[in-house]
Amino acid sequence: MTDGKKVLVTGATGYVASWIVKRLLEEGHHVHATARNISQKNKTAHLQSLADSSPGEITFFEADLLIDGDFGTAMKDCEIVYHTASPFITVVKDAQKDLIDPALIGTRNVLHQASACPTVKRVVLTSSCAAMYTDAIDCKKGPNGELDESIWNDTASINYQPYNYSKTLAEQAAWEIADAQNQWKLVCINPSLIFGPAMAPEFSKSESLAIFKQLADGSLSTGVPRVGIGITDVRDVAEAHVQAGFRAEANGRNIVSGHNTNMLEMARLLHDKFGKEYKVPHSLAPKWLLYLVGPMVNKVITWKFVKNNVDVEWKANSSKAQKELGVTYRPLEQTLTDTFEQVIEQGIVKSR
Ligand code: NAP
Repeated sequence: MTDGKKVLVTGATGYVASWIVKRLLEEGHHVHATARNISQKNKTAHLQSLADSSPGEITFFEADLLIDGDFGTAMKDCEIVYHTASPFITVVKDAQKDLIDPALIGTRNVLHQASACPTVKRVVLTSSCAAMYTDAIDCKKGPNGELDESIWNDTASINYQPYNYSKTLAEQAAWEIADAQNQWKLVCINPSLIFGPAMAPEFSKSESLAIFKQLADGSLSTGVPRVGIGITDVRDVAEAHVQAGFRAEANGRNIVSGHNTNMLEMARLLHDKFGKEYKVPHSLAPKWLLYLVGPMVNKVITWKFVKNNVDVEWKANSSKAQKELGVTYRPLEQTLTDTFEQVIEQGIVKSR
């Protein structure tokens, strides 16, 4: 047993948070894990079994982002707060209710609670590159045409890419609250799109899994658009969070993004590796075709989206996290392979 600390992880059963919990338990910490409904034992079972085989321990608490003061009991005696809970979905009925309220009200509730809890010394917020950009073309605003930590998203709105808007509002609120006090330090982790195996794929609603599924399940068999995107591995993102909580020098915003790539490049990497056995899409969906049929196929693929993302390079500078958090990035092939092998196990991909 190490001299573990008490740490809170919000939304602990989620795709990203589960890997953060795993690393914290391995380091011998006592994780206070929140979820909206802890009576659903099948959703928490993977975390309990990790705790059973790790030096650390876990205690589950129920808390909802939308209820003021709901994180008080879970946060009691904790030194570090990892605020990860926030919906990552792109198809919503009501953007305010489904995305913006839980992101913004939730961040305010959790961070105000941190100020009311004298043991808290640091808050690590899972923000996103989405708080820096909406479309790949926005990367050009950064120095050398790359996103960096100085860039804020000023193009998303409640009507256009509201997930990006929700993350921007939430991170801005977090800095306002942090700057108004001096009890705890805020460190933000800003990952690009995350792939990699999920610990409990059957329960996660993360858009990451839905996007990866499209590369694997035949929905793109007519062609893959060359949409510029950044990718990072869920296990590297988890490590960045752990380091952000414990390293003295951790500070500010931190882009965590292993690879500047695009959807077609990823499809072709998967096709090279798995194409003999499985039907992996790998032909190019040309831009003109997307203008023509995109909006009919998926309401996210608007003309504006096609213009600003297809055949546009996505670039970010992730050197700060490498230098200050010691983050290393797995090769893209490994992330894609490990994720694809999981979707094979789930029976999502079609054999030839
Ligand atoms: P996820 O698996 O869907 O996790 C989201 C978590 O938020 C779930 O645990 C969910 O809890 C919780 N949550 C949602 N609404 C809540 C509410 N009202 N009260 C309490 N908890 C609530 O998605 P994820 O991909 O791991 O995302 C986790 C974080 O990473 C988010 O902040 C997201 O913005 C950020 N992020 C993700 C990516 C990515 O590519 N995946 C990239 C950058 C940043 P329930 O289980 O109770 O529903």
